[in-house]
Amino acid sequence: MKIQEILGSAAAIAKGMSITLREMFQPTITEDYPDGPAQFQERFRGKHVLQRDENGMEKCVACFLCAAACPSDCIYIEAAENTEKTRISGGERYATVYNIDYNRCIFCGYCVEACPTDAITHGHGFELASYNTSTLVMRKEDMLVPLEPGMKAPVIAAPVPASAGGH
Ligand code: SF4
Ligand code: SF4
Repeated sequence: MKIQEILGSAAAIAKGMSITLREMFQPTITEDYPDGPAQFQERFRGKHVLQRDENGMEKCVACFLCAAACPSDCIYIEAAENTEKTRISGGERYATVYNIDYNRCIFCGYCVEACPTDAITHGHGFELASYNTSTLVMRKEDMLVPLEPGMKAPVIAAPVPASAGGH
Protein backbone atom coordinates (compact mmCIF):
# COMPACT_ATOMS: atom_id res chain seq x y z
CA MET A 1 0.00 0.00 0.00
CA LYS A 2 2.80 2.41 0.95
CA ILE A 3 4.77 1.59 -2.17
CA GLN A 4 1.69 2.30 -4.31
CA GLU A 5 1.30 5.72 -2.65
CA ILE A 6 4.98 6.53 -3.23
CA LEU A 7 4.74 5.45 -6.87
CA GLY A 8 1.55 7.48 -7.31
CA SER A 9 3.20 10.59 -5.85
CA ALA A 10 6.30 10.08 -8.00
CA ALA A 11 4.14 9.76 -11.12
CA ALA A 12 2.28 12.96 -10.23
CA ILE A 13 5.54 14.85 -9.72
CA ALA A 14 6.96 13.48 -12.97
CA LYS A 15 3.81 14.55 -14.82
CA GLY A 16 4.01 18.06 -13.37
CA MET A 17 7.71 18.40 -14.12
CA SER A 18 7.17 17.20 -17.71
CA ILE A 19 4.83 20.14 -18.27
CA THR A 20 7.39 22.53 -16.74
CA LEU A 21 10.15 21.11 -18.96
CA ARG A 22 7.98 21.29 -22.07
CA GLU A 23 7.13 24.95 -21.39
CA MET A 24 10.82 25.80 -20.85
CA PHE A 25 11.51 25.09 -24.51
CA GLN A 26 8.54 27.03 -25.89
CA PRO A 27 9.24 30.50 -27.36
CA THR A 28 8.66 33.36 -24.93
CA ILE A 29 5.73 35.57 -25.94
CA THR A 30 5.70 39.07 -24.51
CA GLU A 31 2.54 41.18 -24.78
CA ASP A 32 3.44 44.54 -26.27
CA TYR A 33 0.59 46.43 -24.61
CA PRO A 34 0.06 49.41 -24.75
CA ASP A 35 2.08 49.63 -27.97
CA GLY A 36 0.32 46.58 -29.39
CA PRO A 37 -3.14 45.13 -28.94
CA ALA A 38 -3.90 43.31 -25.70
CA GLN A 39 -4.85 39.65 -26.11
CA PHE A 40 -7.86 38.23 -24.28
CA GLN A 41 -9.34 34.84 -23.68
CA GLU A 42 -12.88 34.66 -25.07
CA ARG A 43 -14.27 34.26 -21.54
CA PHE A 44 -12.61 37.46 -20.23
CA ARG A 45 -15.17 39.60 -18.37
CA GLY A 46 -14.69 43.22 -19.32
CA LYS A 47 -16.97 46.23 -19.61
CA HIS A 48 -20.55 45.20 -20.30
CA VAL A 49 -22.20 45.38 -23.70
CA LEU A 50 -25.95 45.85 -24.18
CA GLN A 51 -26.98 43.85 -27.24
CA ARG A 52 -29.48 44.40 -30.03
CA ASP A 53 -31.50 41.72 -31.83
CA GLU A 54 -31.27 41.03 -35.58
CA ASN A 55 -33.80 43.80 -36.25
CA GLY A 56 -31.80 46.42 -34.39
CA MET A 57 -34.14 46.44 -31.37
CA GLU A 58 -32.60 46.57 -27.94
CA LYS A 59 -32.68 43.13 -26.34
CA CYS A 60 -33.16 44.57 -22.86
CA VAL A 61 -36.81 44.42 -21.82
CA ALA A 62 -36.29 46.16 -18.48
CA CYS A 63 -37.19 43.14 -16.34
CA PHE A 64 -34.76 44.17 -13.55
CA LEU A 65 -33.51 40.58 -13.07
CA CYS A 66 -29.89 41.66 -13.58
CA ALA A 67 -30.23 44.39 -10.97
CA ALA A 68 -31.79 41.90 -8.55
CA ALA A 69 -28.95 39.42 -9.10
CA CYS A 70 -26.17 41.98 -8.70
CA PRO A 71 -24.39 41.48 -5.36
CA SER A 72 -22.88 44.99 -5.53
CA ASP A 73 -26.18 46.74 -6.21
CA CYS A 74 -24.51 48.72 -8.97
CA ILE A 75 -27.11 48.44 -11.76
CA TYR A 76 -29.71 51.21 -11.99
CA ILE A 77 -32.60 50.86 -14.44
CA GLU A 78 -35.61 52.98 -15.32
CA ALA A 79 -38.26 51.31 -17.47
CA ALA A 80 -40.93 52.50 -19.92
CA GLU A 81 -43.59 50.77 -22.02
CA ASN A 82 -43.12 50.35 -25.75
CA THR A 83 -45.99 51.89 -27.70
CA GLU A 84 -47.04 51.85 -31.35
CA LYS A 85 -45.22 55.12 -31.87
CA THR A 86 -42.17 54.37 -29.76
CA ARG A 87 -40.70 50.88 -30.00
CA ILE A 88 -37.22 50.41 -28.63
CA SER A 89 -37.15 46.71 -27.67
CA GLY A 90 -38.88 43.55 -28.82
CA GLY A 91 -40.70 43.13 -25.49
CA GLU A 92 -43.36 45.10 -23.67
CA ARG A 93 -40.90 47.38 -21.94
CA TYR A 94 -37.48 48.85 -22.54
CA ALA A 95 -34.89 50.57 -20.39
CA THR A 96 -34.98 54.36 -20.66
CA VAL A 97 -32.06 54.46 -18.25
CA TYR A 98 -29.54 51.66 -17.75
CA ASN A 99 -26.50 52.57 -15.67
CA ILE A 100 -23.71 50.44 -14.25
CA ASP A 101 -21.51 51.95 -11.57
CA TYR A 102 -18.02 50.56 -12.23
CA ASN A 103 -16.82 51.94 -8.91
CA ARG A 104 -18.69 48.99 -7.41
CA CYS A 105 -18.88 46.31 -10.11
CA ILE A 106 -16.81 43.23 -9.27
CA PHE A 107 -17.22 41.64 -12.74
CA CYS A 108 -18.82 38.55 -11.23
CA GLY A 109 -21.05 37.95 -14.26
CA TYR A 110 -24.22 37.30 -12.22
CA CYS A 111 -26.10 39.95 -14.22
CA VAL A 112 -25.18 38.19 -17.46
CA GLU A 113 -26.34 34.84 -16.11
CA ALA A 114 -29.62 36.31 -14.83
CA CYS A 115 -30.63 38.00 -18.08
CA PRO A 116 -33.43 36.06 -19.84
CA THR A 117 -32.89 37.75 -23.21
CA ASP A 118 -29.05 37.72 -23.42
CA ALA A 119 -29.27 41.51 -23.50
CA ILE A 120 -26.28 42.11 -21.25
CA THR A 121 -22.95 40.45 -21.91
CA HIS A 122 -19.36 41.04 -20.94
CA GLY A 123 -17.21 42.66 -23.61
CA HIS A 124 -13.42 42.86 -23.62
CA GLY A 125 -13.18 46.54 -22.66
CA PHE A 126 -10.78 46.85 -19.74
CA GLU A 127 -9.30 50.36 -19.79
CA LEU A 128 -11.67 51.67 -17.14
CA ALA A 129 -9.25 53.18 -14.60
CA SER A 130 -9.92 56.83 -13.82
CA TYR A 131 -8.96 59.45 -11.23
CA ASN A 132 -12.50 60.81 -11.50
CA THR A 133 -14.93 58.26 -10.09
CA SER A 134 -17.93 60.00 -11.64
CA THR A 135 -16.69 58.86 -15.07
CA LEU A 136 -17.06 55.25 -13.91
CA VAL A 137 -20.85 55.39 -14.00
CA MET A 138 -21.55 54.12 -17.51
CA ARG A 139 -24.88 54.87 -19.16
CA LYS A 140 -26.87 52.79 -21.63
CA GLU A 141 -25.47 54.90 -24.47
CA ASP A 142 -21.91 53.96 -23.38
CA MET A 143 -22.67 50.22 -23.51
CA LEU A 144 -25.25 49.73 -26.29
CA VAL A 145 -23.89 48.19 -29.50
CA PRO A 146 -24.25 50.55 -32.46
CA LEU A 147 -26.76 49.78 -35.19
CA GLU A 148 -25.22 47.78 -38.03
CA PRO A 149 -25.71 48.88 -41.64
CA GLY A 150 -29.05 47.58 -42.87
CA MET A 151 -30.63 47.48 -39.42
CA LYS A 152 -33.67 49.65 -38.98
CA ALA A 153 -33.37 52.23 -36.23
CA PRO A 154 -35.86 51.77 -33.39
CA VAL A 155 -39.01 53.83 -33.83
CA ILE A 156 -39.02 56.88 -31.61
CA ALA A 157 -41.96 59.26 -31.80
CA ALA A 158 -41.06 62.87 -32.40
CA PRO A 159 -41.66 65.02 -29.33
CA VAL A 160 -44.92 66.96 -29.52
CA PRO A 161 -44.17 70.70 -29.83
CA ALA A 162 -45.21 72.69 -26.78
CA SER A 163 -47.48 74.88 -28.90
CA ALA A 164 -49.38 71.86 -30.29
CA GLY A 165 -52.53 70.77 -28.53
CA GLY A 166 -56.26 71.37 -28.38
CA HIS A 167 -56.75 75.08 -29.02
S1 SF4 B 1 -20.75 41.85 -13.11
FE1 SF4 B 1 -21.55 41.41 -11.03
S2 SF4 B 1 -21.13 43.24 -9.83
FE2 SF4 B 1 -20.92 43.81 -12.01
S3 SF4 B 1 -22.93 44.61 -12.60
FE3 SF4 B 1 -22.92 42.42 -13.08
S4 SF4 B 1 -23.80 41.39 -11.27
FE4 SF4 B 1 -23.19 43.48 -10.66
S1 SF4 C 1 -30.33 43.45 -19.13
FE1 SF4 C 1 -31.53 41.55 -19.15
S2 SF4 C 1 -31.95 41.08 -16.99
FE2 SF4 C 1 -31.30 43.26 -17.10
S3 SF4 C 1 -33.22 44.40 -17.23
FE3 SF4 C 1 -32.49 44.05 -19.33
S4 SF4 C 1 -33.53 42.16 -20.00
FE4 SF4 C 1 -33.71 42.23 -17.75
